[in-house]
Amino acid sequence: MPANHDLTPWHTLPLEDTLRETGTSRTDGLTDEEANRRLATDGPNELKESGGRGLRHIIWEQVSSTMIVVLLIAGVLAWFLKGGDGLPIDAIAIFAIVILFVVLGVLQEYRAQKAIAALKKLSAPNVRVIRGGALREISARDLVRGDLVQIETGGVIPADCRIVENVNLRVQEAALTGESEPVEKTDGVLTNAEAGVGDRTNMLFSGTHVTYGRGSAVVVSTGMKTELGKIASLLQAVHHDPTPLQKRLDRLGKTLAILAVIIAALVGVTGMAEGKTVAEILILAVSIAVAIIPEGLPAVLTFSLAIGAQRMLRRKALIRKLPAVETLGSVTVVCSDKTGTLTMNRMTVTRLATADSVEPFAAGDRITGDRETLLRTATLCSDATVSPSGEGVGDPTEIAIVVAAGSNELAKSRLESEQPRVHEFPFDSDRKKMTTVHKAPDQSIVAYTKGAADQMLAVCDSAEENGKVVPLTPELRQRIEEMNRGMAREGIRVLGVARRTLERVPETLDPSTVETGLTFLGLIGMIDPPRPEAKAAVARCHTAGIQVKMITGDHPETALTIARELGIAGPESRAVTGVELERMEIAEIRAIARETAVFARVSPEHKLKIVQALQENGEVVAMTGDGVNDAPALKKADIGIAMGITGTDVAKEAADMVLVDDNFATIVNAVEEGRVVFDNLRRFIMFSLAGNVAKVLVVAVPPLLGMMAMLKPIQILFSNLLTDGLLGLGIGMEAAEKNTMTRPPYSPKESVFSRGVGIHVAVVGPVVGLLFIALGAWQWNAMGLPALLADDPDRSGPAFLLWGTLMFTALAFMQIVRVFCSRSFTDAAWKTPLRANPTLLGMAALTLVLQLAAVLLAPVHSFFHTIALPIHLFALAIVVALLVFFLMEMLKALLRRTVA
Ligand code: ATP
Repeated sequence: MPANHDLTPWHTLPLEDTLRETGTSRTDGLTDEEANRRLATDGPNELKESGGRGLRHIIWEQVSSTMIVVLLIAGVLAWFLKGGDGLPIDAIAIFAIVILFVVLGVLQEYRAQKAIAALKKLSAPNVRVIRGGALREISARDLVRGDLVQIETGGVIPADCRIVENVNLRVQEAALTGESEPVEKTDGVLTNAEAGVGDRTNMLFSGTHVTYGRGSAVVVSTGMKTELGKIASLLQAVHHDPTPLQKRLDRLGKTLAILAVIIAALVGVTGMAEGKTVAEILILAVSIAVAIIPEGLPAVLTFSLAIGAQRMLRRKALIRKLPAVETLGSVTVVCSDKTGTLTMNRMTVTRLATADSVEPFAAGDRITGDRETLLRTATLCSDATVSPSGEGVGDPTEIAIVVAAGSNELAKSRLESEQPRVHEFPFDSDRKKMTTVHKAPDQSIVAYTKGAADQMLAVCDSAEENGKVVPLTPELRQRIEEMNRGMAREGIRVLGVARRTLERVPETLDPSTVETGLTFLGLIGMIDPPRPEAKAAVARCHTAGIQVKMITGDHPETALTIARELGIAGPESRAVTGVELERMEIAEIRAIARETAVFARVSPEHKLKIVQALQENGEVVAMTGDGVNDAPALKKADIGIAMGITGTDVAKEAADMVLVDDNFATIVNAVEEGRVVFDNLRRFIMFSLAGNVAKVLVVAVPPLLGMMAMLKPIQILFSNLLTDGLLGLGIGMEAAEKNTMTRPPYSPKESVFSRGVGIHVAVVGPVVGLLFIALGAWQWNAMGLPALLADDPDRSGPAFLLWGTLMFTALAFMQIVRVFCSRSFTDAAWKTPLRANPTLLGMAALTLVLQLAAVLLAPVHSFFHTIALPIHLFALAIVVALLVFFLMEMLKALLRRTVA
């Protein structure tokens, strides 16, 4: 083997040389040992993220956030304002807490990043390779040079490969070459060693995707050594665009910072009028800035989104793009495929119809004559296989056919050896048909076509009746259409089958030349039962104010029947077809999209139109898809959802979310989790901001009343750390409320302050603040502090410390109580079971311990400006906290009345 394979002009080597050079076998591929050895030396098949966010980047992001910068300025001010000698304790304390905030933020961000990276690994596509002579599915990351990979329509090419087998392969290479038309591939040898990437037509390149055909190929380079890897440094500027909510909350943070400056200025002006010193005024300003800023907000947001994505994965929804977590909570319309998502995708043939009549069919029923021809033809025109043990591989529609034929001693393998396949036009959901071309035992060439019954009739001009070919008269056509409709009305999926004799094997890739002038052989009806959980999931959507629309390639009657069974359509509903949509202007489609629940016989392009119309109607649309052609609709939808099992790589790459189990119910579960994430953020904002409003009042008002500021900057910061950092984290883990799926979705434009959050902040903040000021004023006098003012101008004597410590402690107790009241927006605190959120319980306990430590441990007294608190003052702090509890619950009861 030459030492450096990276320079080999693979496209000029004959296939045998390529296989030899890559040390592999055409039939058996690599052995497992060899593959593992190569993986160890060459590394995994992935692009290195040079522009990714390392720890340094995350730390810098935290340190440079507006909030932290304001706090740092506050710290510096505190440092210079400290008069006299000794350590600037306040400044050091502020810096210490800021560092703690940054550490906490970095930890959360880092954990979030790791969770996201894990999700990313999971979304790496799987590929089918031949190893040790057996076909196996492995992650594309584990591919090595010499692996023999299977290539199929809709697949993303996982590495650079030389084509071994080429069945009409066409590949979209725009990602590499900019050429938007798919390129036709060959398995021959090329001569021009200098040929550019776009001209190396016997090669497949990583990152491009297959739009048509199938084949196999041998991997020649992986990871950063691929053509994509070579230009990867250009693509590696990984953008981490903030999510819409992140942007909004960032704006909120900035607004609050500005507000802090304004309030501080006002307080400053009044202070100066009262003749306070500059130092005093600045300390006050610092305290206000510190009080108002919700330091924990950015970290809590990223963390909640990442945790939400993890929770979704546990419920079988894999998030590919993080903003999807928040958008999911706002979804107003779910557009779902029928087959496999709402139904089981387990098909069984139950009817066989020939030109004269429909007959029921069950596995094992003996059939002869026209019906046998029908089943034989459909079997030959299928790619599915069924093992002797009865296990099917391939499209469930075709498995049903092959199983039915097998039960009649029409084994597919035998039929294929009698009539080998010589050409094919694969199925696609635009023309809804497929054709295979065979060499019959008498050496004639025949084409067998199967597809959607109505589409088939359109391309037939004769029919077979009792073994004889007769013209397809209008009466006969009508009879067949009636049979088709009759079955469809029972929810049966109907396939038409036809045949045509050809003069020679077609050389074209265009199916329209063959799929015309066919002889109709009959209809095959099969049932595909609805998923048992789908009906309940549809009902959940409806109670959650989310519309469900079925968008299917199947017949309108089949679709309607299933849709009615599942509660998607009512008895009076009708289905709108793709053909009808084609005739409409977008304005008309908008009106139709509003009231129609079932769209049938649609092609992927129609899906795009439906999404567009719904979005123009102001809906937030989730749309499912599995094929290559679904990608544009998936990208356009607010939430594009790809099928994990049956979906193509292209659909998955275009999607925001992948359903691991292809199940409709999973979409609804993901929506619920999305709403939980959003609710938890709103809870956090409500809890944190109401507390901050109270703190600002507590800092700004008492000096105006002749008292000293009730809380020192360090005390406020410590309280914020406990509140936002610990309690906030706890409340971010709240489970779904019982009304999560019984209320209408939030509009993405709706303010985070809507539905009671703003009122809560505006009422609870001031009420609690004033309660505190009242407590402070009462104790100020009760402790006889006014008389001491003259002797203690610094207000640092034990009496003042005692007063400050009481306020500091009462504040902490109040926050703990408030967090429990904030768990539900409407329900009373005692109705939300404590065990539902053990994290919060733990965080509350930790907050209590830390607060007691700050008050009871003598060594930290000078740091926190505290002094040991006698028991009766502890009791007083508890009473005040209980009062807050009472007030908040009253407010919620009031809101319950007005909102309900
Ligand atoms: P959904 O869009 O809900 O997944 P679907 O499977 O019916 O439903 P398509 O895959 O676009 O949608 O198929 C459209 C029609 O094409 C089907 O209703 C069926 O009549 C026909 N069809 C499906 N699979 C095959 C196949 N393998 N061979 C021939 N015809 C098929």
